[in-house]
Amino acid sequence: MVQEETLKAYISRTPKSKKMWDDAKRVIPGGVGSSIRCFEPYPFFIDRAKGSRVWDVDGNEYIDYIMGYGINVAGHAHPAIVNAIKEQIEKASVYTMPHEKSFWYMKELLRRFPMVDMFQFANSGTEATMHAVRAARSYTGKDKIVKIEGCYHGVHDYVIVSVGPPIGKAGPKWAPTPVIESEGMPRDAVKNTLVVPFNDAEAMETLFRRHEGEIAAVIMEPIMLNSGVVLPKRGYLERVRKLTEEYNIVLIFDEVKTGCRVAPGGASELLNIKPDMITLAKSIGGGLPLAAFGGKKEVLELMGPNGRTWTAGSYCANPLSVSAGLTCLTKVMTNKAHRYITDRGNDLLKGIKDMVEDVGVTAKVKGVGPVGYIFFTDVEPVDYRTAATTDAEKAWEFWFNMLNRDVIPWSPSLLDEWYVSVAHTKGDIAKTIETSGKALRTVKRIFGA
Ligand code: PMP
Repeated sequence: MVQEETLKAYISRTPKSKKMWDDAKRVIPGGVGSSIRCFEPYPFFIDRAKGSRVWDVDGNEYIDYIMGYGINVAGHAHPAIVNAIKEQIEKASVYTMPHEKSFWYMKELLRRFPMVDMFQFANSGTEATMHAVRAARSYTGKDKIVKIEGCYHGVHDYVIVSVGPPIGKAGPKWAPTPVIESEGMPRDAVKNTLVVPFNDAEAMETLFRRHEGEIAAVIMEPIMLNSGVVLPKRGYLERVRKLTEEYNIVLIFDEVKTGCRVAPGGASELLNIKPDMITLAKSIGGGLPLAAFGGKKEVLELMGPNGRTWTAGSYCANPLSVSAGLTCLTKVMTNKAHRYITDRGNDLLKGIKDMVEDVGVTAKVKGVGPVGYIFFTDVEPVDYRTAATTDAEKAWEFWFNMLNRDVIPWSPSLLDEWYVSVAHTKGDIAKTIETSGKALRTVKRIFGA
């Protein structure tokens, strides 16, 4: 439980949000448009956002590190993107017919991800991973997929498995029991989803041997950003790449969070690994819904007009999202901008690491370029189970103490991370580090080291 004085401060800052939430929850489940946005005692409501800042309906101004779960790599309402959207909306938002910008857009994605021959459009990360898995199944003629415990790939059946399972239900660490995360899925969906721990190539090989000839794909986040920030150990992804080749299994890197962020060409570029397929969303749309999945020509063409596999969507490649995304990727997220978010991210990471040490709190601070996270634990986070040792009470106390001091350190959930955008200034980073010192001192006062 968060301390009473901390909650009181939050409640006294956010009376209008409370009122809006009370109204909203009568018509929307939990009063929020996506269930993970709700938190105790109630979520605060946003009025507007610009650059690195958001303002809530009570007039509080925050430095924002949720950044739309990383969607806003360009910051909120970047003027170039706003202009692109204005220009396009005058020409309409959806044609459901081909248009030229979709070509220029995919040329840019292919420039960033040269291991891929073709990309196809989708509207969200969920759609992109759903299509990628289907493409891999169609290509290989096999049903089973392998996912990593603690990775998240959206909400379609087969991947809502072992995302954040209770450890008591999750079986042995090296051979996790697949845990369905959602009622309403067919029970046997899980028959086709096998689960392995992150950073354990031996466990993966054992599974491949046991299910030889049955597995279509491995889908994974190359840097696990849905369990805090869990980095791949040296050599792990190389082994995964080799094993998937040996066993003829399609390797899908889900770069929805890492793509066009940790490097221009995502984690694949940063870590120099070539997966067979890549899924992208979030930062690639300049703030509007836009996603893509890519792979070899022979795989992607299975989903073309003459292919045997369905993919479609009324909003796919809509010119409004494509305009925002094209401007974001070609005008805003230049190599220089990528260096900028990496540098500011590294400043923040170092500053918070130093602060944790100065204050004397037990924690592991992990990050890669513009993303980072504080695990309140003395256990090195190498997979979901070690990441989940983070002390939830300390994490929430820290979170509210940052919030009450006008910084949103990450989204209101355990094991999410901060996102630095091009709009975050050196001043924002310095203020955040200073504020984290105050919040960490409170955590120490309440819980001890
Ligand atoms: N894959 C990954 C790695 C994600 O982090 C997410 C969302 N956080 C998704 C897929 C699903 O994306 P969306 O919310 O756009 O459906």
